[in-house]
Amino acid sequence: MDSSGGSLIGGTWGEASGSDPLVVTDPATGAILAELATATETDVDRTVDGAMAAAGVLEAMTTFERAELLHRTADLLDGRRDDLAEQLSRESGKPLQAEAVDELVESAEIFRLAAEEVKRLETQVLPSADPAKRVFTFRKPNGVYTLITPWNFPMNIPAELLASALAAGDPAILKPSEETPLSAIALAHAAVDAGFPPGAVSVLHGGRAVGEALVTHRGVDGIAFVGSDQTGEAIVRAAGLKRTLIEASGNGPQVICDDADLEAAAAAAVFGARYASGQCCVATERLLVQASVHDEVVERVLAHAATVVLGDPLLETTTLGPMNNEAVAHKMDEHVADARDRGCDVLAGGRRARGHPTDLFYELTVVDGVGPDALLFTDESFGPVLPITTFETDDEAIALANRSSLGLQASVFTSSLSRAYRYIEELRSGTIVVNESTSFWETHPPFGGASRTRSGWGRIGGRFTLLDMTDLRTAVIDVANTRDGWSGRAESPGPS
Ligand code: NAD
Repeated sequence: MDSSGGSLIGGTWGEASGSDPLVVTDPATGAILAELATATETDVDRTVDGAMAAAGVLEAMTTFERAELLHRTADLLDGRRDDLAEQLSRESGKPLQAEAVDELVESAEIFRLAAEEVKRLETQVLPSADPAKRVFTFRKPNGVYTLITPWNFPMNIPAELLASALAAGDPAILKPSEETPLSAIALAHAAVDAGFPPGAVSVLHGGRAVGEALVTHRGVDGIAFVGSDQTGEAIVRAAGLKRTLIEASGNGPQVICDDADLEAAAAAAVFGARYASGQCCVATERLLVQASVHDEVVERVLAHAATVVLGDPLLETTTLGPMNNEAVAHKMDEHVADARDRGCDVLAGGRRARGHPTDLFYELTVVDGVGPDALLFTDESFGPVLPITTFETDDEAIALANRSSLGLQASVFTSSLSRAYRYIEELRSGTIVVNESTSFWETHPPFGGASRTRSGWGRIGGRFTLLDMTDLRTAVIDVANTRDGWSGRAESPGPS
């Protein structure tokens, strides 16, 4: 099979036919990494046709056969780790050693997890009111999926969705972010090389227009989306009654109570603002600090912030890389300017760093005195910034934390179990982490937005993605009405 070109259509690698190429640049140097052809409507039609043709083939495989190919994909990702981690670092700006290598390790683990979970995806046998009825449930693939992914985890997020789709028996069309499409191409290469049948995995490139064409295509049965809440809403409106899994934005609060381990809490806060340059759905977007420990927390936060090394993502010592693109860096500018206009105290950073090859390097920024109307508080900043807000009581902290339309992951630091329980039950957030950063993440627990927020629905993580990407069906058998007409009685007594 020809593996040139960045698009995978009907099982064949090649160029799509769009005339407007997608240029992928390195945010750290500005160098052009690749030019990829974008998809036209004809490419979308051909790709969906190929995926539809693969649906029966994938479904006919046993889960054990699909699991074997998932394990092989994981092995290939492991074998290619060094090259792919460097490519990921270059297209995203993430520090190679501090972050990109881990993303590769986790992506392989995600494939192994899907392989093992799908083998054990048991369903139920249910009691019936009728002695002659036998009732059980079983799962079928949902059909052809479009996977639409953001730029901030170029390998991990496509891996989370692709591994689950393939495990479930759903052919998947990857439409990665236009900013970081190279890792998704590499992921598809690994799945194809592992032996998944032609059309089981496809890759198309482009922005909103290509995404919309895939979402609304008659041959696409489900959409798994990770990205902003605005795009998520547009997709849900366009998708109509198709199955959707929506993982959207966050505005993660970290609460520090006066009884907490303040050193651990300060370290976690800086990590949550620094990791992935803050371009993370579970980043620490807001730091809520109890007034009595405010000064000590600020002192410790500034000490940790001073240890962060901003620089070339390929250097081993770097812990903070550039932001990924101008749009997200500009949003940081706006949020910091708004904070200054409101009289907040910029205690560290607060500007783009000079002396780097591009203008995307942003100093780690700490802002104190942030009120609940500041953009840093109300909106997802998605940059390396730690806005600090002070509270007096737990009631106030909970009200402040919940004063957001987003609710993905929250954290609270306290040494009191009953306080921890109160926050767990009252914070409106899909996940609540106690005594750890908001950026804590593992591959297998259920992860997603809370109800009554705009952070999305459905859950990713291990078997929970599989539950979303399969269709639970129910079977009812009347054993009395079979040819031999047994009416379903109790078993005979045991030996006396
Ligand atoms: P985005 O919403 O701008 O884009 C995401 C994807 O949607 C891209 O591939 C884009 O091309 C595509 N797209 C844009 N408009 C579309 C449309 N109308 N129809 C179909 N597809 C369309 O998001 P982004 O800037 O790439 O990513 C950052 C956002 O993602 C942040 O808000 C972050 O919190 C969120 N995010 C959420 C999670 C999570 O698990 N909940 C994880 C990572 C990132």
